[in-house]
Amino acid sequence: MTMPPEDITVKCPECHKTYEDWYRGSINLDLDDFDEEYIDKCSSAVCPHCGHKVYFNTLTVKKGVFYLQG
Ligand SMILES: [Zn+2]
Repeated sequence: MTMPPEDITVKCPECHKTYEDWYRGSINLDLDDFDEEYIDKCSSAVCPHCGHKVYFNTLTVKKGVFYLQG
């Protein structure tokens, strides 16, 4: 099942500023014909302050904010 996009807050591990982004928790590739670029956007965010790209699967969530693990 494809989940609707979810608004999230990301804390950039590079410049430590926060910004708004969105992601999809799951994508059903059989039902929805997404291209690779779209899937990449679904699973990553680019910081508008410094341009640093993070992948959500490397982040951990605390109080609704996505942080880099460790
Ligand atoms: Zn940044």
